[in-house]
Amino acid sequence: MRIDLHTHSSASDGTDTPGDLVREAAAAGLDVVALTDHDAMSGWAEAGEVADEVGITLVPGLEISTRFGHRGVHLLGYLPDPTDPALVLELDRILEGRTTRTPAIVAALRAHGVDITEDDVRRESGGSVAAGRPHVADALARLGVVRDRTEAFATLLSPGQPGYVNRYASALEEMIPIITGAGGVPVIAHPWGRRGGTVLDESALAMLKDLGLAGIEVDHQDHSPELRERLRGIAADLDLVATGSSDHHGLGKVDHDLGVNTTDPEQYERLLSLAGNPLGG
Ligand code: AMP
Ligand code: FE
Ligand code: FE
Ligand code: ZN
Repeated sequence: MRIDLHTHSSASDGTDTPGDLVREAAAAGLDVVALTDHDAMSGWAEAGEVADEVGITLVPGLEISTRFGHRGVHLLGYLPDPTDPALVLELDRILEGRTTRTPAIVAALRAHGVDITEDDVRRESGGSVAAGRPHVADALARLGVVRDRTEAFATLLSPGQPGYVNRYASALEEMIPIITGAGGVPVIAHPWGRRGGTVLDESALAMLKDLGLAGIEVDHQDHSPELRERLRGIAADLDLVATGSSDHHGLGKVDHDLGVNTTDPEQYERLLSLAGNPLGG
């Protein structure tokens, strides 16, 4: 059984529609795929319909923008009740922060001499409720300012660069109980990925487990083989579920093909057993 528990569609910053993403997952030989758009559950319905058509299991989820101290942390939530009031309220706050940030990024880029407009970005974010820097990056690429997302993030959109603007993110320690309160299963995405370093060390993860954290993403492209083994050891020590996934973004991220990393079926079954809401329910 091949299981990929972290993917993005055009409901956030992936380039495939939710339906196409699920079709591609089936074509890639996956048996289970989780749709985990940034701060958005709006792709679930379309993805679920196509999953039934093509005979693959869809796990509805999302990847929430949180912070732990000053550091941004992405929290995956699987199978939460999408109507849970506390979850909906907090997601609205995050999406509001994304909506107000886009004009600020455009203004910052214009002040830097880049001729980009809010309409240029809207054309790229189209069907997404979670507008973000990847859409600004796509607009910059279409305008010929950069080659692709990678160059946009490397030169203009990252902290310290001319087009960087911060935005609201929930406190990780508050979001974990919100997810469990909604019957969902919270798992930290790429805990040691990118610039994060190993701030989320074993003692921090133990504290988060006491708040309800269920697992950590171990097999992810941001983690070297050495980091994966260390994280796997911590997951075993703390009795956390260890997941693996592609973090697929369609054409938006290279080296993140569907199924490039997968989750062990035993770990997947454990994750499902922790959900308050049944799969397919
Ligand atoms: P935002 O959520 O708007 O702050 O943008 C962050 C998102 O941009 C992340 O979730 C990634 O999907 C994407 N991202 C970050 N760095 C890069 C990069 N170097 N190339 C492509 N996408 C990136
Ligand atoms: Fe993303
Ligand atoms: Fe992420
Ligand atoms: Zn992701």
